[in-house]
Amino acid sequence: MMTPDATYNGELPTATSVVVIGGGIVGVGAALHLAERGIPCVLCEKGTVAGEQSSRNWGWVRKQGRRPDELALMLESDRIWRRLAQEIGEIGFRTGGVSYFAQTDAEMQRHADWMRYAEEYQIETRLLSAAEVDAMTGRSDRHFKGGVTSPTDAYAEPRLAVPAMARYAVHKGATICERTAVRTLLREGGRVTGVVTERGTVRADAVVLAGGVWSRTFLENLGVSFPQLGVRSSAMRTSPVAPISTSTFGASGASIRPRLDGGYTVGRATAARFDLIPAGIRHFGAFLPVLWKRRRMMKVRLGKEFFGPLGRHRWDGDDTSPFELMRTADPAPDEALLRDVFASARTLYPHLADARPVETWASLIDVMPDEMPVIDRIASVPGLVVASGMSGHGFGLGPGAGALAAQLAVAREPLADPAPYRLSRFGPNRAAAA
Ligand SMILES: Cc1cc2nc3c(=O)[nH]c(=O)nc-3n(C[C@H](O)[C@H](O)[C@H](O)COP(=O)(O)OP(=O)(O)OC[C@H]3O[C@@H](n4cnc5c(N)ncnc54)[C@H](O)[C@@H]3O)c2cc1C
Repeated sequence: MMTPDATYNGELPTATSVVVIGGGIVGVGAALHLAERGIPCVLCEKGTVAGEQSSRNWGWVRKQGRRPDELALMLESDRIWRRLAQEIGEIGFRTGGVSYFAQTDAEMQRHADWMRYAEEYQIETRLLSAAEVDAMTGRSDRHFKGGVTSPTDAYAEPRLAVPAMARYAVHKGATICERTAVRTLLREGGRVTGVVTERGTVRADAVVLAGGVWSRTFLENLGVSFPQLGVRSSAMRTSPVAPISTSTFGASGASIRPRLDGGYTVGRATAARFDLIPAGIRHFGAFLPVLWKRRRMMKVRLGKEFFGPLGRHRWDGDDTSPFELMRTADPAPDEALLRDVFASARTLYPHLADARPVETWASLIDVMPDEMPVIDRIASVPGLVVASGMSGHGFGLGPGAGALAAQLAVAREPLADPAPYRLSRFGPNRAAAA
């Protein structure tokens, strides 16, 4: 077990081996991987550890339904989760299972189609009949056509898990500094030699950028095109109710995850809002297919965000950066949408009849045009590795994604093939001179 007094927020060192930018689950995963191998690292977080997506997500740690080219890394991530759950104490990690229910034949077919990947990767998964779904949910009307369940899938409490991992990384030797925005990179002859933060410079051999939705802003200031946009997603939690199953329940109207406090985290996958920023116009072409695919669930809006810090580019190490202008992105939840989602949840899952809404929140999801992460060395900026664009499923993948990024930074054997995560899939890139 971890020593209870391990804490973060150390003095900012002037030199280290690797600087990690961003204290979400990916950056913390990278720092932990390095620290456990005795490699000096400093993690800089502009606000607080897990202040953005990594404490605001639903908490699902699933292999079920993932794209096949993400499964090898997810299996590694799953192993890290299980080890950490043993080593760092209560983070709400439970192998309670993940289940998705189908309301249409087309949804049922998608679940059935995915079964071949379950077989290929030996993931324990099986289809559910309508009667089995009724039994799981406490219904008796065959409302669902059936479903799919993966009993070895898991979930954790995001608000507990990532800060606990960060404390564990410090216990293992990492330095973690909050309220420390990295403004830009230090470079000599094009190669990264460290970072410029708002508190001074840190020299380093390599830098891992795990900046979530801010990664594009950071990279485009360096002249590296990064087609990533922020999509606002809202969620809520309920008062405690009598449990009916250990499994999460997913359906197109509403998805729910049992919480450690006895309530449920409730949301609707794919229901999201895109607040237009200048990069949205620049990268519009790349995002057109995904916007079209999700046109019924995605609202596009032009508001004050257009002129906000996420949209800013071009500053240098002496300027106040956009990252200091917004310590924590804390967008307003879409309350009307959440009322609708909660009503659906109570209709779909009768055991929620007496649940009350307790808290609502929102966060910006860092989406790539193909909804797959980038975990890659930036060829035009030697010494820089990016691990970002988790596209709404990076909580489960985060420990593995962070470890892979750390391995790329220090040229160690990767725990999974990095090929699916290359930035070059979006075309050739370039970088401004150092
Ligand atoms: C409502 C919702 C539900 C979700 N549900 C799930 C789920 O059930 N399962 C799942 O797997 N995923 C889920 N996700 C996605 C998941 O939360 C994210 O993919 C994951 O948390 C991303 O982690 P990250 O470390 O990449 O980014 P973040 O958690 O966003 O962290 C990035 C950090 O970098 C910091 N930063 C950025 N730039 C700088 C800088 N220049 N200097 C210093 N610090 C900087 C930011 O302040 C931030 O703290 C969900 C997301 C949302 C919003």
